[in-house]
Parts: sequence; structure tokens; C-alpha cells
Amino acid sequence: MTTTSTPPRKRLFIRTWGCQMNVYDSGRMADVLAPIGYAPAETPDGADMVILNTCHIREKATEKLFSELGRLREAKATKRAAGGEMVLAVAGCVAQAEGAEITARAPWVDIVLGPQTYHKLPEMVARASRAAGAVIECDFPAEDKFDHLPDAAAPPGVTAFLTVQEGCDKFCSFCVVPYTRGAEFSRPVAGVLAEARRLVSAGAREISLLGQNVNAYHGEGPDGRSWGLGRLLRALAEIPGLRRLRYTTSHPRDVDDDLIAAHRELPQLMPFLHLPVQSGSDRVLAAMNRGHTADDFLRIADRLREARPDLAFSSDFIAGHPGETTAEFEQTMVLVRRVGFAQAYSFKYSARPGTPAAGAPHQVPEAEKDARLQALQALLRDQQDAFNRSRVGMTFPVLFTGPGRHAGQVAGRTPWLQPLHLSGQLGLVGTEASVTVLAAHPNSLSGLLAAGRDADNVQPAEEPAPA
Ligand code: SF4
Repeated sequence: MTTTSTPPRKRLFIRTWGCQMNVYDSGRMADVLAPIGYAPAETPDGADMVILNTCHIREKATEKLFSELGRLREAKATKRAAGGEMVLAVAGCVAQAEGAEITARAPWVDIVLGPQTYHKLPEMVARASRAAGAVIECDFPAEDKFDHLPDAAAPPGVTAFLTVQEGCDKFCSFCVVPYTRGAEFSRPVAGVLAEARRLVSAGAREISLLGQNVNAYHGEGPDGRSWGLGRLLRALAEIPGLRRLRYTTSHPRDVDDDLIAAHRELPQLMPFLHLPVQSGSDRVLAAMNRGHTADDFLRIADRLREARPDLAFSSDFIAGHPGETTAEFEQTMVLVRRVGFAQAYSFKYSARPGTPAAGAPHQVPEAEKDARLQALQALLRDQQDAFNRSRVGMTFPVLFTGPGRHAGQVAGRTPWLQPLHLSGQLGLVGTEASVTVLAAHPNSLSGLLAAGRDADNVQPAEEPAPA
């Protein structure tokens, strides 16, 4: 009798900073490394490979990366002393923007790769084992990396992300994305639909479409024509078992009539939209190169709300862009009061090397930026609290995603992406059920299955579509 033994799995640890697109990319890097024996690990201790998937948007991204690399240098030495090897890779936007600096300051890094080259990872791992210095891949190749990545393998859970678009041509004054992720690129419709079907058959009930400029989507359809995001959403909404759709991040300039119509027509399209505006001042918006005015944004918000009256907005704001006066900042506060946001991300302006605004004159003093940000965040927090409180007493469907933080709780998401928990009922995970909200907490809601209708309110997920 012969016996076979499986080679030991190599441990892969990926640390992810930044946006949901980076989370998605980390999953795909794990997928591409699985066939050569790497299995995900929870910690970097003793790992055979560590990938730092970086984000350039937040402040001090580079400093954070180098302090992490300092810690990993020791971990790598410990592993080597024990007779093993740790492959260390830096991926993501900081790798793309600052590859040369990384290899100069941290020569113990084995691989530096930009976001368009993840499909080449297995080959790079092989090259790294032979190379004397770091292996670097930071091109923007013309080929479609999605054609070269394997089908997503990891079970997605009840909610899943799906990247449909990457890159940006808009060159906002403050943003590094056009430099780190390259020009806008949309995946063909067939590939998106196939991946969505696979996700649903693996248990996903909600899919969030991702793209740096997701509503600039213009993928090639099966009819050979360019499809916009509205048309793509309609096709996705036909997948049996897929109950909820979302998309992020959008640009006001790319909200077209068809997308607004999709919000009116598709019950699967959730009534919550992240639509960054950045400022309420037309002069600042022009200086930011945003390509829209405050009024344009208000008109779009009104039209979307007319199409879907329960739609709530989230947005991004920058306080203290170079040259912003107190009066111009006040115009941002006016816009916030006029729209009323359910949630928002706000930051004080901080220079990103290589972007036009970084070298602009009239930088706003730090203390002034701090004061403006505090005022803005207080207003946005009040609006978020008011929105959460406005849900108390309402009954609506909640998609249950897993156990809650406390024993005996089940957690879910409202249509407006608020976390909601209720006691017991773990059998609800993976289903949508009507919940009456009892209380609003600082970051979540709690409720009860809609009174007297527990059994028939639970809507089991439909049969998933074949992959
Ligand atoms: S549209 Fe968004 S991704 Fe593109 S440059 Fe502006 S902020 Fe950056």
C-alpha cells in the first residue's frame, strides 16, 4: 500500500490598510497564492510570507509602513535563525508611489508590487527566492489583470465586495489615486456577472460593487457595447438569491439619468449612497479640480431622493484645502445642513507628495484646520445621531450577517448600512427579516423581530444561482 502525504502549507499573513478595494485586493492576493501552497494565517508570527497592503490616502501612511517594516525585519531574522525564510512583500498604493524609497530604506523587503500586478505574485515569489535584491513590479500593464487572476476562492460570507472598476482620470488636486492606480479601467460585464454568480452560490446575499470611480463604470457588455453602471446593476439584480446591491465610491460628475432610474426601479439597490462632495464652496471645488459646483451636487441629491425617497447620503469632506477662507468653509456647513447626511468621513487637508495641492500657496494653518474640522464633525455627528434616532419605531428588513459581539446576539445590517443587533435567533444568519427598531446607540441600532410575525417574516434566501 502506498501512502501520500500533503506538503505542509505555508503560512501567509496579509496586513491590509485603507479602503474596501484594498480588502478585496488582499483576498485576491490570497487566492493567487493558494495554488502554490500558501494558506492564510491570523498573525505574522512565524509566517512564511507577509504582505503589507498599503494605502496612501491617510496621513503618515509611509511612516506607518516603515515602522511595521522595522518590526518585520526582526521577525524575518528570527525565522531565518530557526532555519526558515519569510518572504516580505509591500503592495498597494504606497508601493506604487514610493517603490524606490522602500527598497532603499528597507533592503530586507523582497517584493514591491503595485495594484495592477497582483496576478504576477507567484512568479515574483519564485524570482525573489533567486534574486539578490528586491523584485519590483509597479507598471500599469495594458493587459487586464482580472483576466489573469483566478476565480475568487474564499467563501465570501453573507456580504461580499466585487471590484468592477479601477483607477481614475479626474486628478483632484489633493488625491494620489490617479498616480497610484492609473487610468480608469472597467471590467467587462461578463466577468462581473460570473463573479457575482459565484459569490451568490457561495452564500453572498449582498454585493457591494467597488471602484475608485465606480459610477464611471463603462465595461464592455455581451452586446459589444459599453454598459454604464445603471445597466450593470439591472443585470446583477436578476441573479436569483442576490437580495441587496450597493456601490462605492461615486463621483457626482458621473451620476447619469440611467443610474438615477436604477435607484427608482431596483428594490435590490439599497437606499444608501456614499457620494463625496468635499466642499460646499464653488471656488474651493474648482481649486480641487472637482468638475462640479455645490449646486450641481444639491441638484443630483434632490433627483436621487425624488427617485428613491428613503435614500440617505454619506459623503467625504476636506476642511482647510489650501486657500480655503472662513467664509468658504461656512459654505460647506451650509451644504451639510441643506442635505442632511446619515454618515460622513471628514478630514483636515493634509498634503500628499506629488499632488498639485501639496505645493499650492496659502496653506491653511494647522490650528485653523483643526477648528474647522471640529465644527464640521460636530455637525455631522449630530446629523448621524438624528438619522439613527429617526429609525426607532420603524420596521424594515435587516440582512443578518453573523453573531453579534455579545453572547446570544445576532448582528445584521439595515438598508442604510447601520449595524443592528437583536437577541437570540442565530438561525437568521444569511436571511433577511423584518425588524422593529427599539433603540439607537452611538454606532448601532437594536431591535426585535417584527411583533407577532417572527416566523413568516423570516425570508429564507432563494436558491442560489449555479456558478
Ligand atoms: S475622483 Fe476620487 S479617486 Fe479620482 S482623483 Fe478625485 S478624489 Fe481621487
